[in-house]
Amino acid sequence: MNNLESKKALLIVDLQYDFLPGGKLAVPDGDQVIPIINTLQTSFDLVVATQDWHPSGHLSFASSHPDHKPFEVINLGGMEQVLWPDHCIQGSKGAMLSEHLHQNRIAAVFRKGTHLETDSYSGFYDNGKKYTTGLASYLREMGVTDVYVCGLAADYCVYYTAKDARANGFETYYITDATRFIASETYEQAISDLSGIGVRMISSDEL
Ligand SMILES: [Zn+2]
Repeated sequence: MNNLESKKALLIVDLQYDFLPGGKLAVPDGDQVIPIINTLQTSFDLVVATQDWHPSGHLSFASSHPDHKPFEVINLGGMEQVLWPDHCIQGSKGAMLSEHLHQNRIAAVFRKGTHLETDSYSGFYDNGKKYTTGLASYLREMGVTDVYVCGLAADYCVYYTAKDARANGFETYYITDATRFIASETYEQAISDLSGIGVRMISSDEL
């Protein structure tokens, strides 16, 4: 691989009000990543964002399953599904990208979780890999070789997005201080899994 040919993209995952303090599915200290990510953006050739964007009544919501409560795990379409509080409903304030996130440099926003029956942690595909968002093709068309992933939440959407970036053949970096997790157990599992498939852990001060 010739390093002169590398092109780096920063992929900002789900920096939306519902994942920030005060939101419906707040990630602890999630707002602390915003100034870090704003600074980081200037070091990248291309900045892309993802946005969780569910129709109301989405089957990942506990409210769609009357016998269950948020954070219980059920079988949904043959896959384990954590049931979440209602969040990031299309067009709601909670689904908007934070106004504190600098957005001028964001070239494209890829929406995910739009299919009623299936959740989508990754910015690339739904959890069953039935639908693509088009993100992989877009990054290839733009000549991207290296993808740097940050945003929320570290142990779900950032984790799965990094995993799929790697599976698509991109050199993938997970910016450890530009993300926050929902739970430490799932975070440790995510880091171990990503390290095992060649995703590199990096801190923003190395960029
Ligand atoms: Zn969601």
